[in-house]
Amino acid sequence: MRPEASDQDSQPLVVTSSSEARLWTRSSLSRQRRVALVPTMGALHRGHLELVRRAKGLADDVVVSLFVNPTQFGPSEDFARYPRTLQEDIAKLHAEGVAMIFAPTVGDMYGDRFSTTLNPPQVALPLEGEFRTSHFSGVCTVVLKLFQIIPAQVAVFGQKDYQQSRVIIDMVADLNVDVVIDVMPTVRDPDGLALSSRNRYLSAADRTRALSLSRALDRVEALYRSGQCEVSVLQDEMRHILDEASVDAVDYAVIVDPQTLLPLSHVLSPVTFQSSPKPTRPTTDDAVAVALIAAHVSGTRLIDNRLLFKSRR
Ligand code: AMP
Repeated sequence: MRPEASDQDSQPLVVTSSSEARLWTRSSLSRQRRVALVPTMGALHRGHLELVRRAKGLADDVVVSLFVNPTQFGPSEDFARYPRTLQEDIAKLHAEGVAMIFAPTVGDMYGDRFSTTLNPPQVALPLEGEFRTSHFSGVCTVVLKLFQIIPAQVAVFGQKDYQQSRVIIDMVADLNVDVVIDVMPTVRDPDGLALSSRNRYLSAADRTRALSLSRALDRVEALYRSGQCEVSVLQDEMRHILDEASVDAVDYAVIVDPQTLLPLSHVLSPVTFQSSPKPTRPTTDDAVAVALIAAHVSGTRLIDNRLLFKSRR
C-alpha cells in the first residue's frame, strides 16, 4: 500500500480490502488531512464526477467507493445486470485527482456470517420505501459500514436520490455518526434528463419518454412560481405530462414535505420575491416542498425530483 497519493498526476491507490482502506484513512487523518468520502456504485458519469469535484473543495484527500451493493437491490431488480465499469471508473477518478478508490468485493463487505442490518429512519418509509421495501435498510447498512471503514469528516451525496440523502442525514443524526453530509444538486444532460448509470439502458425512443420526468418537474416549478399553490393541481399536471409521454408506469408523482417526505396540506405557501438574489446554494431548509417522481420506461426505473422554493431567486 502506498502511504499517500493525492496529487493530480499520481495514480489513485485502489484498495479492495476494508482493513487496508481503514489503515489508509487513519494514516491520512493522523497527518491532519481532511478526508471526504463519495460513496458510489460505479459506472461513473458526470454527475458522480461533480460530487468528486465538490468533495475536493471540501477536503485534502478524496476517497471514492465503488461498490454495487447487493443488499439494496430487491429480488426482481437489476443487481446482476447493473453496469460494472471498474477500469473506466479508475481512469476517470485518476483524472480527477482522487487519493484513494475503495472497490471491495461482496465477500469483503459481507462475510459468510454477516447478519446485522440497520432499521432505517422514518423518512425511509414513504415513496421508495413503499416500492422498494428493503432498499433503504440495505443503503443504510452499507453506508454506515463505509463510514466505519473510511471515517471521513465529510461525505458527499447527490440530490438526484433525494430520499436517500434525507435518509442518510437522519441516520447520521440518530446514530451520532461523526460525519458531515453534503448534498450536491442534480447534474443533467443538456436536454434535462438527470444523469444516471441506468440511462445507458435507454434506447433513443425510451429517452424521449424519459424526458417527461424533467419536463413534468419543470412544469410544476413554473406553475408554482406563477402562483399555482394547490398541491393536487400540481400533482395532476405531473401525471398528465407523464401519461402523455406514455411512460410504462408511474410509481409516484407527488409533492411532499421536503424534510419528512409526508403529504403536505393541500395548499403551498406562495412564492415571495427577493430583491437581491442569495449568493449561497439553496438548501432543503429553504424549500417549501419537493416534487418527486419515480416512473418506468421499458424496464428501467427512473427517479427525479425538484425542490420548490418559497423565495424566487
Ligand atoms: P449511485 O452510483 O447511483 O449509487 O450514486 C452515487 C452518488 O451519486 C449518490 O449520492 C447519487 O445521488 C449521486 N448521483 C447520481 N446521479 C447523480 C446526478 N445526476 N447528479 C448528482 N448526483 C448524482
